Amino acid sequence: AATKTNEIIDQTTQYGAPNYHPLPIVISEAEGAWVKDPEGNQYMDMLSAYSAVNQGHRHPKIIEALKKQADRVTLTSRAFHNDQLGPFYQKVSEITGKNMVLPMNTGAEAVETAVKAARRWAYDQKNVAENQAEIIACEGNFHGRTMTAVSLSSDPDNKRGFGPMLPGIKVIPYGDIEALKAAITPNTAGFLLEPIQGEAGIIIPPEGFLKEAYDVCKNENVLFIADEIQSGLGRSGKMFACDWEDVKPDMFILGKALGGGVMPISCVVADENVLSVFNPGSHGSTFGGNPLASAVAIAALEVIQDEKLADRSLELGNYFQKKLKEIDNPIIKEVRGKGLFVGVELHTHARPYCEKLKTEGLLCKETHENVIRFAPPLIIKQEDLDWAIEKIQRVLSN
Ligand code: PLP
Repeated sequence: AATKTNEIIDQTTQYGAPNYHPLPIVISEAEGAWVKDPEGNQYMDMLSAYSAVNQGHRHPKIIEALKKQADRVTLTSRAFHNDQLGPFYQKVSEITGKNMVLPMNTGAEAVETAVKAARRWAYDQKNVAENQAEIIACEGNFHGRTMTAVSLSSDPDNKRGFGPMLPGIKVIPYGDIEALKAAITPNTAGFLLEPIQGEAGIIIPPEGFLKEAYDVCKNENVLFIADEIQSGLGRSGKMFACDWEDVKPDMFILGKALGGGVMPISCVVADENVLSVFNPGSHGSTFGGNPLASAVAIAALEVIQDEKLADRSLELGNYFQKKLKEIDNPIIKEVRGKGLFVGVELHTHARPYCEKLKTEGLLCKETHENVIRFAPPLIIKQEDLDWAIEKIQRVLSN
């Protein structure tokens, strides 16, 4: 039918590189946990832009910060100081308990930054011989789409046709402490992991793994680097997924919800002994730390704190998971998650169910073949979750 939605989808498909496979819906308006298409149909957003909209779409406080800063100054580059970057650093430092921050824009860039920091730290602080530094990553990881991130990946689809890959990377099974011990050599700079794997299908490591892995890294003088881009900032029911085991990583990598769903902003956070390996000229970004994104990020973090979104995620996530587990349906293999970071693994392909849920007014996306990820904005109301559960139950039994 010649709807506005179809017109837009045709245009987007005609001119755009085919590197995504979106559900056939156009979002033209959004507020809180709800979005609308051009025809005015309403949908609940249970993806939250891969957890970049934890605070809900267009949170008034974040939009106000955006508008206020847009009327002052938006971009200075780092050739000059701006008056928003310092306050942003201080806020991130307070929340993480680390004393240095390095701002970038996207998650993948922050991962690049963390790998560069770890390598340079290995040469400068650990006396690893030139070009010998190693990074240990985990099977099933997702750290983004740049060459470093793709080199870290264990998924052949992410890598095909993009070689040669970056050397100096070892990949171990996720959650395998013995494999970690075996992989560490005197050249190991860092162990990079998602404390909960998001894109892999909401995979939670065995209990105790984070703590044990951190202790192993400490003993071996290896940096424990937590990619909390998706799992952090309240998503898992704690401020950071590492908090589930009281682990303070040597480096945090943050992104997504750091920009409140409004501006791309990411950062690496660590103590001075790590991040002071950078000197002027060694790393940077034209847009990194810009005043507009910094002002937005301060507001985005304040909303997470003021509205206790981590606690909310825990409480509502427990409720939501309990309700999902009560669904008695043989196609469900497992319901798992922490807080409102939930995966429902099916015995069959998840995509057709995501398409059916869409026609019922609920937006979610399959991750890998068989997992539906449910990660609504953390400001979602309990009655909205009840509405969602009713739809999920019905669609899965058809
Ligand atoms: N790291 C993790 C854990 C992610 O989930 C993602 C995005 O999904 C990234 C890195 C990459 O972030 P970006 O898409 O902003 O480059």
